[in-house]
Amino acid sequence: MSAAGLPLAVEVNLRPEINRERGQRQVFCGLAGIVWLHRKIQDAFFLVIGSRTCAHLLQSAAGVMIFAEPRFATAILQERDLAGLADCNQELDRVVAEIIQRRPTIKTLFLVGSCPSEVIKLDLHKAAERLSGRYRNQVRVIAYSASGLETTFTQGEDSCLHSLLPELSQRPDGERSLLIIGTLPDVVEDQFKRLFSELGIDPVEFLPPRRLAEAPAVGRGTRMLLAQPFLSETVRALEKRGATLLSAPYPLGIEGTRAWLEAAAQAWGVPRARFEAVIAPAVERAAKGLSHQRALLEGKRIWFLPDSQLEIPIARFLARECGVQLLEVATPFLDRQLMAEELALLPPQVSLTEGQDVEQQLARVRAARPDLTVCGLGLANPLEAEGLRTKWSIELVFTPIHGFDQAADLAELFARPLVRAGLLRV
Ligand code: SF4
Repeated sequence: MSAAGLPLAVEVNLRPEINRERGQRQVFCGLAGIVWLHRKIQDAFFLVIGSRTCAHLLQSAAGVMIFAEPRFATAILQERDLAGLADCNQELDRVVAEIIQRRPTIKTLFLVGSCPSEVIKLDLHKAAERLSGRYRNQVRVIAYSASGLETTFTQGEDSCLHSLLPELSQRPDGERSLLIIGTLPDVVEDQFKRLFSELGIDPVEFLPPRRLAEAPAVGRGTRMLLAQPFLSETVRALEKRGATLLSAPYPLGIEGTRAWLEAAAQAWGVPRARFEAVIAPAVERAAKGLSHQRALLEGKRIWFLPDSQLEIPIARFLARECGVQLLEVATPFLDRQLMAEELALLPPQVSLTEGQDVEQQLARVRAARPDLTVCGLGLANPLEAEGLRTKWSIELVFTPIHGFDQAADLAELFARPLVRAGLLRV
């Protein structure tokens, strides 16, 4: 038994020490979020106002996944645009008119800011107001920034969802609803909808929605459950509108999914017996699938470099459900409120880092030579060239990983490179 009288199996880590690093960073900017956001929101188009670098970044991030008809593009500001902002605005209006004419199903157009100085000088919020007026009753135009100066990788989704909040209508006081926040693939969203429905939890809405025409309403009766951990700004703004956050681990792995659903079940007063009966078949399926992956992962030494902000929940899952040894878990930002339940579940001795000093972190990785390093695309190739196995963290946002039915797939993402390394050695 632990000092608190709890069985060791559920002992929690109440005060993990966090090392902070403020050096050179090597992470994607928030533009990467467009790749999964444009797939999710089917009546929206994302127009990046940027440079050739921004266009290349989007192409390389999108190249990781297969997609049919992208609803994003980059309007590249050329040298001549620097001569006058009026020209830039005219050019922007022309590009927007062309998109709206060619894509009549688009109901919302996001103007996405980036970091070149000529873009910073352009007031995209004013441009969005002007264009919204011009296309009233046809297309809403909303501006947000995914500049690398302000956002990393997954924070682009936070900026996008935050920019949408003024569009959400007010739910009358006294009307209760559950709002799931963070992009989930449709297949996972449908699985959760079924479970909530069997639990008698209703209405359940999702942000972002599949179509912005069906955007959720928010009010004092709204209870929020976070599906993704990188949405601090959006959560704080929704709290100001009266919504209440249900504190829970993230729905990754069996343990996380169970606790996440349980937070909603408790808020809705679902009897324990009903809760257990509803989740039992999915838990059983997940445990069966996970047992094979656990055998491959048990005892493996894994290192997380900071990139996606999913590092802590995934590390918790790998340590507690797959028997992985965590060498270091680094995350670009740590929101203690949104991560409180996860921090409490991490193994007590885990080495935690917030932020990045890339050279120092790489030196530690090289010295430890982990079995697997989870990192951004930019660091993976150099590490592979040194004989270290890597896993791209960007796959964690492009692959369905949430919920009971994806627990084994999530473990397999980490087991696969280890199995491949074993085959190569033979
Ligand atoms: S927004 Fe900035 S960091 Fe991102 S691709 Fe464009 S120039 Fe690079």
